[in-house]
Order: sequence, then C-alpha cells, then structure tokens
Amino acid sequence: MNETDVCCRLPASDTDGVQRIAEEPVDLLCIRCGVCCDVYQVRITRAEAELIAHHMGVEYWDWVGRYCDTRWRDPRSHLIRHDEKGCVFLNGAGREGALCGIYEVRPYSCRAWSASVFKPACQEGLRRFWQVEVSNDGQLEGSDQSLTRLRRFMAQL
Ligand code: SF4
Ligand code: SF4
Repeated sequence: MNETDVCCRLPASDTDGVQRIAEEPVDLLCIRCGVCCDVYQVRITRAEAELIAHHMGVEYWDWVGRYCDTRWRDPRSHLIRHDEKGCVFLNGAGREGALCGIYEVRPYSCRAWSASVFKPACQEGLRRFWQVEVSNDGQLEGSDQSLTRLRRFMAQL
C-alpha cells in the first residue's frame, strides 16, 4: 500500500497548506476518536445485557445495577450508563485511539454504527483531535501537517 492508498485517500502532500480530495466524498474509516461513544447513550435489549453480563462474569441484575442508567424506565431494555468520559465501557479517546471494553460483545447499535465524514460525531473527532475539517462535499481540509499526521495514523489502523 502506498501513501495515496490509505483508507481516507488523503493525498500524500500539497503545497498550499490546505489539502482537498477531488470528486467523491472521503470514505472515512473509524479513527477511534471515541466521540460517538461519548455523545450517544446506547440502548440495549435484555438479551444483549444478558450476553454482556455473562461475558463479564457478572450476575445479570448486579450487572444492570452497575452498568445501566437507573433513569431508564422501559423494562424491556436498558440504557448503558455514562460517566464523565461517556459510555462507561469506553477506554481512552482522541489520538491514542478509543477502545471499547466490551468490543467482542458490544451491542447491535454499536456494531451497526460506522464512521462517515457526514456524521457530526466523526466531524467533531476530526476537528478536536486532528485539526481537520470536513467540507460540505465530504472532503477533508486542513494544513499539510494536520493531514499528514492523520494520514500516518490512519495507515496504522
Ligand atoms: S459499548 Fe463500546 S462501542 Fe458501544 S458506546 Fe460503549 S464504548 Fe462505544
Ligand atoms: S465518532 Fe466516528 S470516527 Fe469517532 S469513534 Fe465514532 S465512528 Fe469512529
């Protein structure tokens, strides 16, 4: 894989300080910024809760008490609790890369979620941690330095 073939199709270099990718919107792979796990609170089915509790070796109602939001009143589902960093299962964030503490058994809504240059959470992650903006037509814009840094990070994903 050469430098122009990385997942976000960032150009290798430019000289005007602002780089753009022509034509199609950038096909963004998840940069593991963790913003979506911070801003969205995930609802899970009872079956999912049972699976995660079993995976963690915790008795079901004990697990619910520890990891679910007590404000949620629907008995058919649960809301995963948030703490000061977002989802209680979120480890790390930003440039180091966020990790899901229950990745193998993460809920359907987390598995079904994918990154996109058009999703506000992904745009926020690009802006906050990489100083890269997304234009209206889905191109990544930033300084040579910012885009090079992002390109190098994405090449390792
Ligand atoms: S369960 Fe994992 S993937 Fe889903 S919101 Fe929490 S940390 Fe993110
Ligand atoms: S906000 Fe987007 S890029 Fe960041 S972790 Fe979530 S899906 Fe990945």
